[in-house]
Amino acid sequence: MTSGDDTQPFLRSDVTVELVKSSASDGDVLFAARVSTVGEQSLEELQKDPERSKGLINFLMRDRHGSPFEHNSMTFFISAPIFVFREFMRHRVGWSYNEESGRYRELEPVFYVPDESRKLVQEGRPGKYVFVDGTPSQRAAVQEVLDESYQQAYAAYQKLLAEGVAREVARAVLPVGLYSSMYATCNARSLMHFLGLRTQHELAKVPSFPQREIEMVGEKMEQEWARLMPLTHAAFNTNGRVAP
Ligand SMILES: Cc1cc2nc3c(=O)[nH]c(=O)nc-3n(C[C@H](O)[C@H](O)[C@H](O)COP(=O)(O)OP(=O)(O)OC[C@H]3O[C@@H](n4cnc5c(N)ncnc54)[C@H](O)[C@@H]3O)c2cc1C
Repeated sequence: MTSGDDTQPFLRSDVTVELVKSSASDGDVLFAARVSTVGEQSLEELQKDPERSKGLINFLMRDRHGSPFEHNSMTFFISAPIFVFREFMRHRVGWSYNEESGRYRELEPVFYVPDESRKLVQEGRPGKYVFVDGTPSQRAAVQEVLDESYQQAYAAYQKLLAEGVAREVARAVLPVGLYSSMYATCNARSLMHFLGLRTQHELAKVPSFPQREIEMVGEKMEQEWARLMPLTHAAFNTNGRVAP
């Protein structure tokens, strides 16, 4: 849904993930690993025997020799609802974050509504539940109530700003469905740990039950990473998607 009025909520159902900067390749893993056994080597040397390289990466993944997977870097720009960022920033190790400020700039009225593919109703108990679609009336209620609530919240924010109240105080009225944006920098090892917990996959040895919206972010990050480090990504899958 769009709006010409920039004080009216703009509703989104998707997330943005852009790889803005990277220094990451399978060669970085091999380079780091082989210093253990053969000392310093050139990257060109490593590319001479692709089958051996594939085998070494698989061995490192299988036996959980994790540190060779840390000598690389990927920086993502991510735009997603605040409730996704709250979950995201629980990942402390091997991650750096910078998020837009609600103190230094006026927050834009961009809010999250689930699209038709988002299952709405949880059945079962914590630890043993499934999500189902929900009825048309539940779907309509979600759209209507979220829309109305976002409009009220953003109008309240504008009212406080118009009174001269500081942005850092006025933002207290805004909900976690508001979009935020950040740069997140990680390496392959920290990303694999994140993906193991925040995506569902048929090859996962340890199943996880992430919230769909953070999984959407994880899936897009994984696509970028798989392109940069195809052998490492394949070995992650082959070995049950457990971070080394
Ligand atoms: C499906 C799901 C549901 C969740 N539900 C909740 C919830 O209801 N409430 C809630 O609060 N959180 C919840 N979480 C968040 C979860 O508890 C973790 O905080 C989050 O997944 C980050 O994982 P992590 O600590 O392994 O990652 P990181 O912080 O990146 O840490 C990576 C690894 O480093 C080691 N490590 C890091 N810090 C320490 C430390 N202080 N001491 C010892 N070892 C350390 C551990 O081996 C850890 O696995 C949930 C996560 C998932 C995936």
